[in-house]
Amino acid sequence: MATITSIDPTTEEVLARFEEDDEKLVEQRIAAARAAVGVLREAGFAKRAEWMRAAAELLDADADVLAELITAEMGKPHAQARAEVHKSANAMRYYAEHAEEFLTGRSLDDPSVVGASRAGARYDPLGVVLAVMPWNYPIWQVIRFAAPALMAGNTGLLKHASNVPQAALYLSTLFERGGFPEGAFATLLISSSRVADVIRDPRVAAVTLTGSEGAGRSVGEAAGSVLKKAVLELGGSDPFVVMPSADIAAAAETAVRARTSNNGQACINAKRFIVHNDVYQEFTDAFVARMAALVVGNPMDPATEIGPLATASGRSDVEELVDDARAKGADVLTGGIRPAGPGFFYPPTVIANIDRDMRLFEEEAFGPVASVYRVSSLEEAFEVANALDFGLGSAFWSTDPAEITAAITGIESGAVFINGMTLSYPELPFGGIKRSGHGRELSIEGIREFCNLKTVWVA
Ligand code: NDP
Repeated sequence: MATITSIDPTTEEVLARFEEDDEKLVEQRIAAARAAVGVLREAGFAKRAEWMRAAAELLDADADVLAELITAEMGKPHAQARAEVHKSANAMRYYAEHAEEFLTGRSLDDPSVVGASRAGARYDPLGVVLAVMPWNYPIWQVIRFAAPALMAGNTGLLKHASNVPQAALYLSTLFERGGFPEGAFATLLISSSRVADVIRDPRVAAVTLTGSEGAGRSVGEAAGSVLKKAVLELGGSDPFVVMPSADIAAAAETAVRARTSNNGQACINAKRFIVHNDVYQEFTDAFVARMAALVVGNPMDPATEIGPLATASGRSDVEELVDDARAKGADVLTGGIRPAGPGFFYPPTVIANIDRDMRLFEEEAFGPVASVYRVSSLEEAFEVANALDFGLGSAFWSTDPAEITAAITGIESGAVFINGMTLSYPELPFGGIKRSGHGRELSIEGIREFCNLKTVWVA
């Protein structure tokens, strides 16, 4: 069995090493998850909500220690790690509160129209759901799957990213500590090459993945080969459009946060800034000045705004995109040079004059690198925004009501935020179109993804 290693991206020191779970352990965990399906179902909504609330309390209580662990393992600023933990606990409470209402079935007022005495539809759990999750929000990404899944009566198996095994192990006990029965939720410490076998296991009903396109394709193919449901939440290169009527100072300030939160490693970070000619210079000057002024450093230091990227390979990927653009004639307005010294640091970077032959035009930059595009009309802004095969989030800045209406319908994405930045909220559905994936997480739609909407007809 291979070893899974936790490395501090700030120092490049090895924090811990773990042996992968062997076949026997994986088998036991799948069997326990399957056995717990009936127990969860019998427990009912009220009991599951009680356990979920208790687990949320534990998560909140662990916030200090857990945030340090997150920062040590993947490098996000400590305050952002803490916020992630509390946001996760709140999502658990949200589903504890609303799951029953979201999964209330319906009955036909007049069942005689279908020849029945009673007819309608109900939401039943699917069973064991495998979650293949990324390292960028090591707690939140998992909780936004697990909270609705467990509240619906499913059980969960987590295959977490290989660079966050400590977060994975923390999560492996959280739900049982809250009162959920053994097997309700477990971590499988396995490499990605073993994921397809778990998907194909007859006791596993469905799979959800958040991650790269490549991982999405593999997981989608494995699920397709056994005709199982898959929800895929993949990458994005979200547009952030700025029109002349916008509050430019506010747009530039929000643009910096939208590009650099989580050290620039979020699927919904704004990555392409599409700015109208009339305000291009004003916006770009303000944006570049703010990007250049960000404090890069040790993510445990409260003054730090940008920590290291999570992995050496993640930094190389970003660096290659920037170097390719520069070599082909793009303008690097700030950043663009890897600093010397330990840690996988990369500076906040802004690039302009990007052509279609540059990789940066169509590939996702998973780090603090912003691409700025100049456009001369609303139509051209939509053209650039919709030019890619991604369609996750988007932001549109304008005070013109007609433009806002046009943007809400005209931008091809899973979300559009007007005069703001794309964020995830338990109350709103989250997901993409095109190569950003399919299916939805969060809100009422998220909890229904892993349910059997069963039609009931009684003579
Ligand atoms: P990956 O997609 O490689 O990792 C995400 C998860 O998928 C991990 O648990 C990983 O496991 C697993 N995985 C990877 N390949 C496979 C496979 N073939 N079959 C089954 N599971 C697999 O993301 P990276 O960390 O490599 O990041 C690279 C890119 O992914 C980024 O540039 C970004 O585009 C995208 N990404 C998007 C995220 C999002 O929020 N939508 C989050 C993270 C990344 P393991 O770690 O063991 O390989």
